[in-house]
Amino acid sequence: MYEVGQILRLRKKHACGGDTWEVLKSGVDMRLKCQSCGRVILIPRDKLVRQVKGG
Ligand SMILES: [Zn+2]
Repeated sequence: MYEVGQILRLRKKHACGGDTWEVLKSGVDMRLKCQSCGRVILIPRDKLVRQVKGG
């Protein structure tokens, strides 16, 4: 499962062009920080699972 501090690469690029995100909080909802622009988002874990590259 995803851990705080882990870097994830998503299929869909962020608006800034970045596709790597740092996990800030793990749970039913995941809090991710864009590694390119620093934007923080909340995403449901089941939705995130489908977005992550390489499982
Ligand atoms: Zn970004």
